[in-house]
Amino acid sequence: MLSQAASRLGFDVVILDPEENSPAGRVSRGQIVAAYDDPTALNVFGRVCDVVTFEFENVPSASIERLAEAGAQVAPGPTALAVAQDRVDEKTFLNAVGAPTVAFAAVDGIDDLRAALLTLGAPALLKTRRDGYDGKGQVWIRSAKQAEAALDSLGGRPAILEARADFTRELSIIAARGRDGTIAIYPLGENRHAGGVLRTSRAPAVIDARTGRRARAIARAVLEGLAYVGVIGIELFDLGEGNLLVNEIAPRVHNTGHWTQDGCVCDQFEQHIRAVAGWPLGPTAAHARVEMTNLLGTEVDQWARLASRPDRRLHLYGKAEARPGRKMGHVNRVTPL
Ligand code: AMP
Repeated sequence: MLSQAASRLGFDVVILDPEENSPAGRVSRGQIVAAYDDPTALNVFGRVCDVVTFEFENVPSASIERLAEAGAQVAPGPTALAVAQDRVDEKTFLNAVGAPTVAFAAVDGIDDLRAALLTLGAPALLKTRRDGYDGKGQVWIRSAKQAEAALDSLGGRPAILEARADFTRELSIIAARGRDGTIAIYPLGENRHAGGVLRTSRAPAVIDARTGRRARAIARAVLEGLAYVGVIGIELFDLGEGNLLVNEIAPRVHNTGHWTQDGCVCDQFEQHIRAVAGWPLGPTAAHARVEMTNLLGTEVDQWARLASRPDRRLHLYGKAEARPGRKMGHVNRVTPL
């Protein structure tokens, strides 16, 4: 979707992806099939590209540094990537820029975990510090007795214990910062998850003025704190009465921003390309109310029924195999405002 947006703006796009015949590679000018840390591939890639971006935060940050050394302008930069890759660093950064999170503690072993449970109370959520997404690598601890088993279930990897957020709903905000420091912020989305995976996003979310102001202030603080260039997704817990906590930040276009494809003149994909290419940012106002639903696994088989509905816009990713829970596409239900 980024590649399509870029080619519409006249750019040639090359994809670096370990997978042969990847969905992004198939709609782009070229593809380099290599691991994200392959030094030869990174050198070639960095030389042929003027600008490099990424849409997967588990790319090694050393690769981003190597691309910059090979001559490409990389955005977002290595700092944003490194912060988003480690849940402890991420929360430490967020609190430092005035974007509040749940209370948390780093957990390197059972003694840390027992101490953290005493401070944070149970239930609390134990997550791996790194490489977790879509609810993977996390387990609820309901009493101190479950501590050992919970730690074992994460395979002894460095972890974080998070206090439970007592939220009424989950919101998210998609925002962008250009190379000149300009900031553009989309209306908020309201999100429903099941089993840690996003099911639906509705936008613009119905929010009061205080919540809107608070969310935009958080977005600005995060973008400026990282000297960020590109689109970022910020997941929020709404505690009510304008009180928000940041759950996590995603240094890329975000699933909760897919509604912008059919709800805004300039969607998050074009916005990201504009930002990283040094263009002026585009407008973010919504011209439609959109409900975005992810199509997971074999749900994608409903494509014909969905395609026949005049108010639905179907986006399929061209992934070959519909594994259970895999994001195969999404559908936007559009109601013009
Ligand atoms: P994450 O992978 O961190 O985005 O977590 C996936 C989902 O788990 C979130 O969207 C929430 O629904 C839930 N969750 C994560 N962290 C917490 C928390 N500290 N308290 C309550 N629910 C949480």
